[in-house]
Amino acid sequence: MSAASFPAVEGAAGAPSTDVDAAVEALRRGLLVGLPTETVYGLGADASNPTAVARVFAAKGRPADHPLIVHLHRAAQLPQWASHIPTAAWKLAEAFWPGPLTLVLPRAPGVLAAVTGGLDTVALRIPAHPLAQDVLEAFGGGIAAPSANRHKKISPTTAGDVREELGDAVALVLDGGACRVGIESTIVDVTTDEVRILRPGAIGAEDLQRVTGQAAVLAPGPSVRAPGRMNLHYAPQARVVLVPAGQVAEEIGHCLARRERVGVLSRQRAPAWPVEVPWLPLGTSPEEQARQLYRRLREADRLRLDVLIAVPPPDRGLGHALRDRLWRAAGLGDRLA
Ligand code: AMP
Ligand code: MG
Repeated sequence: MSAASFPAVEGAAGAPSTDVDAAVEALRRGLLVGLPTETVYGLGADASNPTAVARVFAAKGRPADHPLIVHLHRAAQLPQWASHIPTAAWKLAEAFWPGPLTLVLPRAPGVLAAVTGGLDTVALRIPAHPLAQDVLEAFGGGIAAPSANRHKKISPTTAGDVREELGDAVALVLDGGACRVGIESTIVDVTTDEVRILRPGAIGAEDLQRVTGQAAVLAPGPSVRAPGRMNLHYAPQARVVLVPAGQVAEEIGHCLARRERVGVLSRQRAPAWPVEVPWLPLGTSPEEQARQLYRRLREADRLRLDVLIAVPPPDRGLGHALRDRLWRAAGLGDRLA
């Protein structure tokens, strides 16, 4: 398609599209594309084009030392991006790609420092969403794609969310429907002999352990410059208060006494809660809860809540990653046990 016949980019504020060719053309021109993945929507840019990468940081309002994840089409591309690929990394790639797993590896010499935030490592993932795969295949190179939200805000899980977050900064948003996983990928550092989880996600420590045959340890604290490891992240406008189900009614009482607009995010609604208090259902299975979480946090913004009381799910399986995101939304970050 020639640049002249390129209505999708001119209609920047236009409706979401499924035009893979237009997305690839935009990427080749150094523009930004909203990209559906199975985790959350990404803000895609040509990872080898410094201008395009700079646009990502500008659009997100993200500090320059925060690295981006580079998305690839095939594991065979890994050696172009990583200088050394330990056996554990190959095993994880084979087991979980395409899928919600990001591998942090030593970066290959040609990788732009802007992409890695100046680090000597690079984060790589092969996403499973068919539209993302089509774009990656047709584009051929790596696509740097952080979550398509403004810095510290809620990750988008629909094409509409991307436009709401970033407006005309994205040339085109591909519409791949609501994200199947709904929270960001598990990030695993495999640069050393240890398998370290930098960010929990749908693929848990037990899954990693099963494949590598070695323990996967949760990296302590925000020692790595990674927005996913910062204390306030994925945050709605409302103050998020985490309480067990049994204490919700009392907490609602405190909020109402202070004349605050309060809502509740939880699995179930209790009859004791005042009817005027909006309930944001989180769903029952952990998978459903992951799909719902960011949608509900956005809803809290739309309702202009002052306080969102959230009942954290149990710390089992995917519940661990959900609790991680809720703790961060509450500004508690690494106090997560
Ligand atoms: P986002 O761009 O918001 O989806 O987040 C991407 C995540 O990957 C962030 O937490 C990044 O900091 C993290 N990340 C990217 N590259 C690296 C790296 N080289 N080492 C550690 N974390 C990384
Ligand atoms: Mg993010």
